[in-house]
Amino acid sequence: MDAMIPYGKQDISDDDINAVIDVLKSDYITQGPKVIDFENVIANYCQAQFAIATNSATSALHIACLALAIGKNDRVWTSPISFVASANCALYCQASVDFIDIDIATGNVSIEALKNKLKVAEQQNTLPKAIIVVHLAGQPCAMEEIQALAKQYKFAVIEDASHAIGAKYNNNPVGGCQFSDITIFSFHPVKIITSAEGGMATTNNAALAKKMRAFRSHGIEATSIEATSIEATTSLTQKNDGPWYYEQTSLGFNYRMTELQAALGISQFSRLDTFVKQRNERANIYNKAFENTTLSLLKPSEAHYSSYHLYIVLLPKENASQRKAIITQLRAKNIFAHVHYIPIHTQPYYQQLGFNNGDFPIAEDYYERAISLPLFPSLTKEAQHYIINTLINLL
Ligand SMILES: *Cc1c(COP(=O)(O)O)cnc(C)c1O
Repeated sequence: MDAMIPYGKQDISDDDINAVIDVLKSDYITQGPKVIDFENVIANYCQAQFAIATNSATSALHIACLALAIGKNDRVWTSPISFVASANCALYCQASVDFIDIDIATGNVSIEALKNKLKVAEQQNTLPKAIIVVHLAGQPCAMEEIQALAKQYKFAVIEDASHAIGAKYNNNPVGGCQFSDITIFSFHPVKIITSAEGGMATTNNAALAKKMRAFRSHGIEATSIEATSIEATTSLTQKNDGPWYYEQTSLGFNYRMTELQAALGISQFSRLDTFVKQRNERANIYNKAFENTTLSLLKPSEAHYSSYHLYIVLLPKENASQRKAIITQLRAKNIFAHVHYIPIHTQPYYQQLGFNNGDFPIAEDYYERAISLPLFPSLTKEAQHYIINTLINLL
């Protein structure tokens, strides 16, 4: 292969480019109709009542935590095998973070570990206010079990579905919030569809949606324009000075998505199902090729449909020490293998907060052995066979 094969890559069409150009020539380049259209498109697709677009999934995670009133003295649990944003969002709210060890078969949080941790936390009066589950690589977590525990122990559930737009849980699209309070998507270019930077929160809870909208834009909840609409007549808390009037009722941020981003997102969305199908086809080729090797594959689920944001293999335990050499050699051969993820609790910042190596042994074992191979819709058969043969030869 002459050129480096990346581990992920966006797919931008002429239609995508034209959609952005059209916005540039229009009256609104931010805060206009495209953002609302994009929200509606995603809400309809996911069968969620509300969707709130943001400038990143990180911002969406932050306003989701704020809407759930997570603050000082609250605890939030998440997976150690995720991007740091899944944990950082709770720290932004002054909450404390803890982790739930993973299930090595899927890379997602282990339901057993969660149950055990909840039992201990109940005795010690340290139950979490929310947990943020991560659908690693696009494979949905065991949401029914998680929801049952959420009801029993009274915590909120956020799905970090940054990898999982287009995935299905029991035939229902991830993002419908059937078993959670809020779901978050990312539209960063390495993800399934992109708006350059961008994110979205979905929910079926009108109060949470209203709060997230406010936190997205400076905590401005009500304008006199909204207040003249039938359902929002009670929104203003002070006297309406006139048609220019607006009220800030909480401390929010500028986390707004632009019209340019929304237009790109809508255009990309029209190919979402195709992208996910192409990812699944390529993942199945890998699955077959590695079936009889020493590699462990993240177990595909029969009940659910993965969006295959990533294709992750695990080396056998006895070969863990060769992981670095294998990735170095793959890169030398123009295959940009990667690792998802460094366990969050082993990051220097989290070690300063008191976490130690050894705290989440399954996550650490996973990390020692994980390799992400290139996977994206335009990955050719030829390139994929080259990747497969190169890796098998190295093994
Ligand atoms: C990419 C990612 C994020 C952050 O997304 P941004 O849109 O870049 O803020 C959060 N969580 C997970 C699991 C991710 O993969």
